[in-house]
Amino acid sequence: MTDVLIIGGGIAGISAAAALSPHCDVTLLEAEDHLGYHATGRSAAVFLQDYGNTVVRALNMASLPSLQALTGVLSQKSFLLLGRPEERDDFLRDAAALGVSETSVDTARAMVPILNPGTCAYAAVRHDIWDLDTDLLLQTFLRAARDGGAILRTGVRVKKVARHKGRWQVSDGVRQFGADVLINAAGAWADAVAIQSGVAPVGLQPLRRSMARIAAPAGLDVNSWPMMDGVGDRWYAKPDAGALLVSPGDADPMPPQDAWADDMVLAEGLARYEEMVTTPVTRPLASWAGLRTFAPDQALVIGRDPTLPQFFWLAGQGGYGFQTCVAAAALTAALITGHTPDLDASCVAAVSPARFVT
Ligand SMILES: Cc1cc2nc3c(=O)[nH]c(=O)nc-3n(C[C@H](O)[C@H](O)[C@H](O)COP(=O)(O)OP(=O)(O)OC[C@H]3O[C@@H](n4cnc5c(N)ncnc54)[C@H](O)[C@@H]3O)c2cc1C
Repeated sequence: MTDVLIIGGGIAGISAAAALSPHCDVTLLEAEDHLGYHATGRSAAVFLQDYGNTVVRALNMASLPSLQALTGVLSQKSFLLLGRPEERDDFLRDAAALGVSETSVDTARAMVPILNPGTCAYAAVRHDIWDLDTDLLLQTFLRAARDGGAILRTGVRVKKVARHKGRWQVSDGVRQFGADVLINAAGAWADAVAIQSGVAPVGLQPLRRSMARIAAPAGLDVNSWPMMDGVGDRWYAKPDAGALLVSPGDADPMPPQDAWADDMVLAEGLARYEEMVTTPVTRPLASWAGLRTFAPDQALVIGRDPTLPQFFWLAGQGGYGFQTCVAAAALTAALITGHTPDLDASCVAAVSPARFVT
């Protein structure tokens, strides 16, 4: 059996461990004391099938049936795009991209009574997006990985990666791990792991995205409210267990790190949301940020490195790591075990790291 070592215990690494463990000896190494500590633990937990470029959408759609088959992982929601009076052109562009249909502001206000008729000039809606129970999904993959025999190690920060007699030798400075194939699922650190492993980076860029949790406006029951999105991703909000998550939609380039929310960025984003509603924003109950890590063309990077095939990329999940995870993990397993991928060949080529070789 092929020995596979996965670096990174986020949704990417854990879903790959689940997909591979029936076929390979899998060990997953996570630097932090808890799995899912970085981007994976900080998401907005939404599945929006028309979010991302063409390749990302293909992965979304390929993941959807399996996610739907997992009881309780997806629950249907509505989605409202909202535009200000001066944003007509951008509103129409975003509406087309997100697959939403224009509706009246009155209809939108029937869904979200606090919308401000003075600033909400345009509204568009769709009723087929999903809330994603990220904890349940993660636990489902973890159970599958363990049932398949995968070994999951936390508190192991890979510091040295070397090749010896055709195998990988990986160490955190204390412990040694060997493998035939190394999977780089290190999120914001994936380029750094590649460099450590003697492989050229692909140009991944972590972008910070912040989030605040605020009390339900005016004590209203917000649970049935749709996800709301400001034109141009200038803010978005969604109900979250009786409260409201509001994001400034920020995308600030950052080095790989344990990201935190910048107070000013958060305040400006909350102000953009507040303009669109009739209730004042109260002091956040909590705030956080995470890094969404993108390849230069915003598609995921999945496949064997063209210069060193034993080095496998599973990176560049951007803002779509959950909604693409089933298809990304299945592709990883197919390419490593030598099976024909379910995805069509053009999609496999579009995510391959070979696309960065000039
Ligand atoms: C605010 C926000 C909202 C989001 N909303 C959504 C959403 O609604 N829907 C959606 O699908 N996606 C969303 N995303 C994106 C999604 O969260 C990410 O795409 C996904 O979590 C990335 O998973 P990952 O496993 O690649 O990275 P991570 O979760 O960051 O995991 C990588 C892991 O690798 C580990 N690691 C790195 N280097 C080493 C090393 N040397 N040794 C050992 N371990 C190492 C890190 O410690 C880390 O835990 C959102 C992201 C953010 C930040």
